[in-house]
Amino acid sequence: MAARTMTVATLLAALIALAGCGGGDGGRTGGSRSDEGGGERDTGRAATPRLLFIGLDSADWRLLDPLMAEGRLPHLKAFRARAASGRMQSFYPLEKSPLLWASICTGVEPGVHGVTDFVRGSAQKPVTGSAWHAPALWDILGAAGRSTFVSGMWTTFPARPIDGIMVSDYLPYGREREKPLAGLVTPDSLAAAVVACRVDPAGLTAEQLARFLPAGADVADAERRWPQQVQKLRDIWAADLGYLEVARRLRQARDFDFYLFYLRGPDMISHGFYHYLAIADADWHGDADEHAMFREVVQRYYDWTDEAVGEVLSWFPPDHPTVIASDHGFYGPRAEGKGTVEHSEWGIFMVRSPLYEAGASFGHLKLLDICPTVLALLDLPPARDMTGAVLATGTTARGRDRLAHIEEHRVESYLALRPAAGDAAPEVDDKVEEEIRRQLRSLGYIK
Ligand SMILES: [Zn+2]
Repeated sequence: MAARTMTVATLLAALIALAGCGGGDGGRTGGSRSDEGGGERDTGRAATPRLLFIGLDSADWRLLDPLMAEGRLPHLKAFRARAASGRMQSFYPLEKSPLLWASICTGVEPGVHGVTDFVRGSAQKPVTGSAWHAPALWDILGAAGRSTFVSGMWTTFPARPIDGIMVSDYLPYGREREKPLAGLVTPDSLAAAVVACRVDPAGLTAEQLARFLPAGADVADAERRWPQQVQKLRDIWAADLGYLEVARRLRQARDFDFYLFYLRGPDMISHGFYHYLAIADADWHGDADEHAMFREVVQRYYDWTDEAVGEVLSWFPPDHPTVIASDHGFYGPRAEGKGTVEHSEWGIFMVRSPLYEAGASFGHLKLLDICPTVLALLDLPPARDMTGAVLATGTTARGRDRLAHIEEHRVESYLALRPAAGDAAPEVDDKVEEEIRRQLRSLGYIK
């Protein structure tokens, strides 16, 4: 506890240093809330910067660029025109999204943050939130008196108490339970509201599902012929729709400083359907009808993802500082086969902020640069034990000075802000755990 208090003190000192000198634009308070009048926000006055972060698991320019060139993905395309964008170089092991996202959220390597896998032990128990040994963005923000909304992020069950709302990654599971899992969301008082947002895969209608299949496709017939594939589509989309509904419903709860909306579906849909897209008619050795039926699912899922992104963006002012990023890209089937080897090293990163040039292309950044860059966008100092850099290309003149200033004022470490354990002991439900293992197996993530 003493270490924690000291870290908070160090953080506050760093914030004062950040606010007090250099590069400031006069209006910013640099994170100190003491002059904000009892926490009440006065938009006419200086405010601490806020940030929207949209995480799209496995989004890849190789897929997005051609769709944008066709005039599709209008929201992502319009966003990109107002953002600095580039490629995001992930690191190995690429196949482990929980590990990659935990590195994005903590700025440290897996050996330090502790989230290294999907499951542990021969019993393949799903790795839970207690694995995090390093503070995530929401913990650092919380120590600075700033709030976070985060939903659906990997390895966040049981949800832990944060300054804000955390909706864990277990929302899609345990639908048949009478009572929601303890730890589904914090604060716990939101459990009923969150569960009410859940979408039942079986309730999705043929009319709704038709948008992912070729025009005029007979969805009921497709479901009779390829039940597993259509079920996969139902499960994946229902999970994303549930999280979108949660975000829709809870966004008014509070004016969050950091709002993290994450979609896992783009990755899962790619695992299930990318091979139909990647393999040409002539090289397809299976059922030609099946190939024709599912060939467009991935692209059409990105059309839906783009709509979801457009909706989330519409909840914020048009110039609200925003990052859109993935954790890795998606290559498709390789000679080694399908499954996790299909991931690619290059994901996407876009940042819209007065600190970065609209429309600039910055080349690339590394995955571990994301956390320091996000902290800088929030006017918070990164720590010296974060190995990444604050993105320093594609900046405006003002951004260059400000970001360099923040980069120079790193704090020593945030590791003492180790995440607090929740009050509720994680509830173990064997059925839910088996449901998760089944899903991880179907993606090829575990054996
Ligand atoms: Zn994947």
